[in-house]
Amino acid sequence: MSFTIKNVLIPVEDSYATFDVQVVDGTICAIAPDLDVMGSEINGKNKLLLPGFFNAHTHSSEMWQRGIMSMLPLELWLAELYDFAPLDLEKVYLSALGTAVETLLSGGTSVVDHLVLIPGKELETIATAVRAYQEVGIRAFVAPLIQDESLTAGIPSGETQQNHEPYFRPTQATLAVIEETVKQFHHPEEGISILVAPTGIQLCSDALFAGCIELSEKYNLCRHSHLLETKAQEKLAQEKYGCTAVTHLKRIGFLDYRTTLAHCVHLSDRDITILSETQSTVVHNPLSNLRLGSGIAPILKYRQAGVNVTFGCDGASSNDSQDLLEAIKIGSILHNVTDLDYQHWITPRQAVEMASLGGAKGLNMADQLGCLSVGKKADLVMYDLTNLSLLPRTDPIGLLVLGRPSNVVDSAWVNGKQIVANGKVTTIDVDNLRQQLFNHSQWHTQRLSPTVTQIEPHYRSVMGL
Ligand SMILES: [Zn+2]
Repeated sequence: MSFTIKNVLIPVEDSYATFDVQVVDGTICAIAPDLDVMGSEINGKNKLLLPGFFNAHTHSSEMWQRGIMSMLPLELWLAELYDFAPLDLEKVYLSALGTAVETLLSGGTSVVDHLVLIPGKELETIATAVRAYQEVGIRAFVAPLIQDESLTAGIPSGETQQNHEPYFRPTQATLAVIEETVKQFHHPEEGISILVAPTGIQLCSDALFAGCIELSEKYNLCRHSHLLETKAQEKLAQEKYGCTAVTHLKRIGFLDYRTTLAHCVHLSDRDITILSETQSTVVHNPLSNLRLGSGIAPILKYRQAGVNVTFGCDGASSNDSQDLLEAIKIGSILHNVTDLDYQHWITPRQAVEMASLGGAKGLNMADQLGCLSVGKKADLVMYDLTNLSLLPRTDPIGLLVLGRPSNVVDSAWVNGKQIVANGKVTTIDVDNLRQQLFNHSQWHTQRLSPTVTQIEPHYRSVMGL
C-alpha cells in the first residue's frame, strides 16, 4: 500500500513548506521536495498535512442520549444516563460507527473508547465495538469501562451513614472478562488495542485496581481511568483514603507512563508533581467539564510542571458532539481566563502537538505515531485550505485551531490506508449510518429518571446545596 502526496503544505519550525510525502507499507519513508511518485499519486495542492489527532477519551454509546440529558452535575447526570442506557448490541455498533466517523471528520485518526458494557453481554459488547472500528478503519483503543461498586458509592457520605448495594458482578469475574478480552481482541499491529480501564476511584475497589495493574504488566497494556472530575470525587477520596486520590493511586502503583487520566479537574499542586514524576498523561475534556459544571482543569499548571496533556471529547451525552477540533479549540483558549500570564497560554501549534504527539505518548506509541517524520506510521489527515471556513489565507494552523472549521478534512489515512477521500469516509456507507441512527431513535424532550429522584436529596445535602 504505497502512495505519494505531491505538493502538500507541512508545518516546519515557525513556518510552512511545500513538500512531497512518500508512504510505503503504512510508513512514512520520505518527506522532501520533488520526490518520485511511488504507488498512487495524491494531489496535495492547497492542502495542509498534519499527523492524525487522538480523541483520547470518549464513551461511544452515549451518542444515543446526546442532546437530551438534563442539566445536572456528574453524579446525578450518571444516574440519569444509566437509567436510559441502551442495552442493545445493534445500538452499540451504530454509535461506535458514528463516534469513529465524527472523530475522523474532525481530524482524529485514533479513538479511546471507554466503552460502557451491557451487563451479561460484556464480551459481545466489546466484540461489537471492535467490529465497528475495524470496519471504519480508525485506530481504536478500546477501554472496557469496569467498576465493582454500585452507583451510590460514588457520592460522599458526609456526616451520614450510607449503605450501598453490592455490585452485581464480583471483582474477580470482571477481571476475568478483561483478560479474556485481551486474549481475543488485543491486536495493536492491526489497529485495535485493549486498555485496562477502571472507571475511577469513586466506584472501584483497590482489588479491582490491583487486578488491572497485574493485567497491564502481564500483557503490556495501557491504563485508563477517570480522575477527580468533580468536587464530590475530591471529597470522596478523602473519606475513602484519608488522602488525595492521586496520592492513593500512586501508592497502589496505578500511575505510570502508560496511564491516561481523563479530566483531572481537582488536583493539588502536590498531585500535579506526582503526575509529572510518574509520567502520567492528562486527557483534557473541556466541553464535558463545562457541560457538567465540573470545573476548569488546571491545564497550564500541568504543562508548566511537565505533565503530558492531550484532548478528548468525552462521551457525546456530556458534550454533546464528537467534534475533536471543537474540543481542541475550547481546551486551548479556555485557560486564557485562568492565567493572567499570557506567556503560558496555549498556542495553536502547541495545541496541535498536544492533540497528536500528546495522545501518542499517553498511549505508549510515541515512537510510532504523533508527528510527521520519516519512519513513523502514516496516520495522517489532510485539510482543504480552500474551504470557506479556512479562508482567507492567513496561518493555516491558526485557522484550524482557533476558527470554526467545518467539513475541512479532505483525506485521512490510518496505518497508510486511506479511509477518508474528498471529504467522505470511504470504508462504510455514512448515508446508511445516518438512516440507521434515525430509525433507531425518536424525537423526545422530557424523561424522568427514578434514580435521580432517589439520590438527589442526599447529593444536595452532602454538597451543601
Ligand atoms: Zn468519561
